[in-house]
Amino acid sequence: MKIVFATNNLNKLKEVQAMVPSHITLLSLKDIGCFEDVPETQETIEGNAIQKAEYIKTNYGYDCFADDTGLEVDALNGAPGVYSARYAGPQRNADDNTNKLLTELNNNTNRQAQFKTVVALQLNDKLHTFTGICKGDITTDKKGQGGFGYDPVFQPENYTQTFAEITLEEKNKIGHRGKAVQQLVAFLESY
Ligand code: IMP
Repeated sequence: MKIVFATNNLNKLKEVQAMVPSHITLLSLKDIGCFEDVPETQETIEGNAIQKAEYIKTNYGYDCFADDTGLEVDALNGAPGVYSARYAGPQRNADDNTNKLLTELNNNTNRQAQFKTVVALQLNDKLHTFTGICKGDITTDKKGQGGFGYDPVFQPENYTQTFAEITLEEKNKIGHRGKAVQQLVAFLESY
């Protein structure tokens, strides 16, 4: 089965590719000749995931899944949430976003947060959604060289390391996207 994963993020493609069974071939946006920015203008994480999957189906004709992720920080009333990518501005820079988060939290002792991923699958004219949540804490300093985005400041529950300090395999097992993709994979396997 061939299916499009609507992303240009090579880190994510690598993460998800590692979880999908070999009989499912993932096509990237580049593979289908999509070089435009796929719109994500909704006000919720779920809305953005659905918008992206439907956009590819409508404009390129492929069955497709898309994900959208946000980091929801308790002490910031759920921010940056759906605005995680552009938290520090339109340049969408991970270092700037992470620095802003640490500054906003300053000495706040409530560091609780969660990553939330919604995967929307558009398959044979039906829409399916899968949600994965990973709870943890925002550290006071950046730690680790791995991963991407907010990984150096996110310490998952029951861990002493940040996402940037654990292996990709471990992150896929306990992480938000991993949990959502595990549900997607189970669904596709039984389809
Ligand atoms: P997106 O919806 O996957 O593009 O993610 C939105 C924002 O959350 C981007 O700034 C990403 O860097 C960040 N993000 C998404 N997934 C992760 C993750 O697994 N670790 C750290 N940051 C992430």
